[in-house]
Amino acid sequence: MAKKQFKAESKRLLDLMINSIYTHKEIFLREIISNASDACDKLCYQALTDDSVGMSRKDFKIEIKADKEQRILTVSDNGIGMDREDLENNLGVIASSGSYRFKQEVGDDAKDTDVIGQFGVGFYSAFMVADHITVVTKKYGADTAWMWQSAGADGYTITACERDSVGTDIIMHIKPDTDDEKYSEFLESWRLQELVRKYSDYIRFPIRMEVSKTRRKEGSPDDKPEYETYQEEETLNSMVPIWQRRKSSVKPEEYNKFYRDKFHDYADPQKVIAVSAEGAVTYKALLFIPGATPFDYYTKEYEKGLQLYSNGVLIMDKCADLLPEHFRFVRGVVDSPDLSLNISRELLQHDRQLKVIASNLEKKIKSELAKMLRDDREGYEKFWKNFGRQLKYGVVAEYGAHKDLLQDLLLFYSSTEKKPVTLAEYVSRMKEDQKYIYYAAGDSLEKIDRLPQTEGLRESGTEILYFTEEVDEFCAQILHTYQNKEFRSVLDQEIEEGAEKKAEEAAGAHKAAFDFVKETLGDQVKEVKASARLKSHPVCLTAGEGLSFEMEKYFQAVQP
Ligand code: ADP
Ligand code: MG
Repeated sequence: MAKKQFKAESKRLLDLMINSIYTHKEIFLREIISNASDACDKLCYQALTDDSVGMSRKDFKIEIKADKEQRILTVSDNGIGMDREDLENNLGVIASSGSYRFKQEVGDDAKDTDVIGQFGVGFYSAFMVADHITVVTKKYGADTAWMWQSAGADGYTITACERDSVGTDIIMHIKPDTDDEKYSEFLESWRLQELVRKYSDYIRFPIRMEVSKTRRKEGSPDDKPEYETYQEEETLNSMVPIWQRRKSSVKPEEYNKFYRDKFHDYADPQKVIAVSAEGAVTYKALLFIPGATPFDYYTKEYEKGLQLYSNGVLIMDKCADLLPEHFRFVRGVVDSPDLSLNISRELLQHDRQLKVIASNLEKKIKSELAKMLRDDREGYEKFWKNFGRQLKYGVVAEYGAHKDLLQDLLLFYSSTEKKPVTLAEYVSRMKEDQKYIYYAAGDSLEKIDRLPQTEGLRESGTEILYFTEEVDEFCAQILHTYQNKEFRSVLDQEIEEGAEKKAEEAAGAHKAAFDFVKETLGDQVKEVKASARLKSHPVCLTAGEGLSFEMEKYFQAVQP
């Protein structure tokens, strides 16, 4: 039996496309500009082997024109253009991509181009903002130009027309505003500039537009200057992404400025990490460790993630999957041509490549921090002040799943060194007969200094780590050991043999005093006992069975 072909219900499909694939209308400009860039790329590629093209990379450009009165937005390019057949095949058939076929045809050489298109749906996104689109185009090598016209679902017409040079104009008749939906912004110069910078900043060809500027009127007096506005064509995009440049060719000041502009920070980053990877997945990444804690860092408002680009086109502003929680303070961008994008190019299809990238970046961040700790202690302590707490949270999270990765990056204040030290440093200084890594928890360094239970150890010159943050003690419990040395609270320090017995005897002799204290305090304490750990202090408080005071505080702090 002859197989029947599926017939796509084009009208409905187009409707679906227009109304449900994209979450943001504004994305249409990214799609139309990406197509223009692809068209330039294709002719550029042809020029490599065909001298008669007579153009090189620098000759290509994309132009945007907005006519507010006519409500027409035009995007023009001097790329490869389309003939009648191309128009039928590419714009007449939904989900047919000339760019995808181009990449298949040129095969391996596609690596040298930056062709973006692949799904054959981007063009139709323009119907989200335009009720009528006219395409005027002339293909390279053809004599005739063609006009394609459509008002969306009702179909399209193709007629012969005039166009002086090779290239394409996409002429969009912007919809009228309604009470619910506004479209006029897409005719505003500032808005178009904003969108180009947001989504298409790294398109490799100049995107040009006439913008109004103000200047001082010639001859106007100094004390009464007059100003006038004038129009000037400007390139809106920066074209070469800083992360595509070789690290050695970028000045530190350029990185800093890029960081401040892109992530709206007033402070320079503390560290810049540039990554260029080829292999299983090809990508470039530019990561920054902020120089200050963002004001909302430890709140729910703070959103982690890296900006994700594919071939210089923005796919996602904050891709959370690229960063583990414990490094959520890192900001930056990742650009990879290898991502499998979904049809709207707003999300990723499946995340195998993303997982590879994320895991490589995690290792890279860890090794850069370890390097800073080794080579720039002062810098590391500054970093620690800003984000150390995050690393401790990281140790505690997921029952210590990341503790091996993070434990060497931790710092705790030391009683003997009077400054933050690493666990490795502590262990290297341990006395021969010292079994434990001692810590004491309290609200502040001064309070811990005055803690009766630290006195004995301090007198004997034993180093104690001071835990002043609510997460510290939990962190030690999750680590449990470091280099086979167990953590132990000063409250549980071992006591000399026989000392306990002696204390009990003493308590027996002064039973009346103990009873008096217990009766006076009543329910506020569980029991009043003699302690074998005190030196010069008369009393100390200890927690009973279960949680320590500090742990209790931690749980109170993390409870929503
Ligand atoms: P995609 O870009 O994913 O292929 P689109 O719907 O955006 O899908 O575009 C469909 C096809 O139309 C493109 O593959 C390309 O062949 C053709 N096309 C669109 N815009 C232009 C243009 N400005 N110049 C030349 N060809 C274009
Ligand atoms: Mg496209």
